[in-house]
Amino acid sequence: MHPSSMNYEILIIGGGLVGAAAAVALKRQGRNVALVEIRPPETACAFLENGWDARIYAVSPANQAFLQSLDAWPSESRVQAVRRMDVRGDNGGRIEFNAADAGVPRLTSIIENRWLLAALWRQIRALGIPVITEAAASLATDIQTASLTLQSGAKLTAKLVIGADGAASWVRAQAGIAVKETPYAQHGVVANFRTELDHGGTAFQWFAGGDVLAYLPLPGRKISIVWSTGEPERLTALAPEDLAAAVTEKGGGVLGTLSPLSPAFAFNLVLRRPETTVAQRVMLIGDAAHTIHPLAGQGVNLGFGDVIEFARISRHAPDAGAHQLLKRYAQNRLEPVRTMQLGCDGLFRLFGTQTLPALPWLRNAGLNLVNAAPLLKHRLIKHAMGL
Ligand SMILES: Cc1cc2nc3c(=O)[nH]c(=O)nc-3n(C[C@H](O)[C@H](O)[C@H](O)COP(=O)(O)OP(=O)(O)OC[C@H]3O[C@@H](n4cnc5c(N)ncnc54)[C@H](O)[C@@H]3O)c2cc1C
Repeated sequence: MHPSSMNYEILIIGGGLVGAAAAVALKRQGRNVALVEIRPPETACAFLENGWDARIYAVSPANQAFLQSLDAWPSESRVQAVRRMDVRGDNGGRIEFNAADAGVPRLTSIIENRWLLAALWRQIRALGIPVITEAAASLATDIQTASLTLQSGAKLTAKLVIGADGAASWVRAQAGIAVKETPYAQHGVVANFRTELDHGGTAFQWFAGGDVLAYLPLPGRKISIVWSTGEPERLTALAPEDLAAAVTEKGGGVLGTLSPLSPAFAFNLVLRRPETTVAQRVMLIGDAAHTIHPLAGQGVNLGFGDVIEFARISRHAPDAGAHQLLKRYAQNRLEPVRTMQLGCDGLFRLFGTQTLPALPWLRNAGLNLVNAAPLLKHRLIKHAMGL
């Protein structure tokens, strides 16, 4: 159901984590917002409480505070605080980060996709934000307005269309924005496991032979893993017990023997850089605007950063889609996004290169060097926390 011809201030296409957060944040600022989402998520407790979602995020403290300000932070019983990170290279290198050293209670929070999405969508419903579940057919803009025509022929107009429709963004294509895609020739394999030993709120990461494996703690004796690898089928084709054994072995048995808790899924990993994130009466946020390698767990954090920045600069703007405002958004987000993309890409390439004989020594010595430099470590922690 949808109104046949409606006018809004802001029309958001895509109600994933980033689009949903934008809808709530901008509505709370008094904007007349509507959301187009072809697959609204399930929010019923019976669905949420049935097992553990293998899609999880490490949400930075800055973004946690933002989500809490929107009343969209799920129950702490489904959130695991990370108090320590233990990162190991492929030749004896090691770096550790402790929340206590940084004087903070947690470095980041691990949270399941479906719980966070449900918390945001409950706010969308509580605020009465109109949700259109029909697919769009075309998008046209002029200097004053953006017009979205739905497949039924109904027309929606707005001062601004926000494309939050993910990595393969339809809005981006409709706006004629080209995107540079650099595949990593890797997939991220994700799955959940029960652990034999207590993780104590520690996140582990191993760089090994081009692969990157992360153990991310969940509440209780449970972890979620992201294993970035060029041979995902080798892992997803395994029986659950055999995959658990492979993940136990790759992690050196650091949490004892693992046992399976969920099926494994594989995601294709691609670095995406659109030529711009704005066009006439259109802007992009979240994965529509950028994707990165998941090794630093920063993808959705960057997306929430887009929302926070736009909400900040547009707060008192009479016209939410004004050219100067969109230009400012694009400029302000360029550096943080590029820095994170380049940082993750650089780290991936540094540990992925197997052909230069001196490199394994150099990269592991680099980790140990940073580990021994408290000031540098402190700065790295603050940066990763979004502070
Ligand atoms: C293996 C892996 C691990 C990751 N781990 C982390 C992590 O630990 N921390 C982190 O910060 N990030 C992580 N990420 C990145 C994170 O998953 C993404 O950055 C985030 O999900 C992007 O959210 P989004 O809302 O922009 O896009 P999406 O989640 O893709 O949402 C897009 C929405 O738009 C809708 N849609 C699409 N097309 C249309 C259309 N035409 N009309 C209407 N609706 C439409 C879709 O149904 C969907 O709901 C990881 C990614 C991978 C692959």
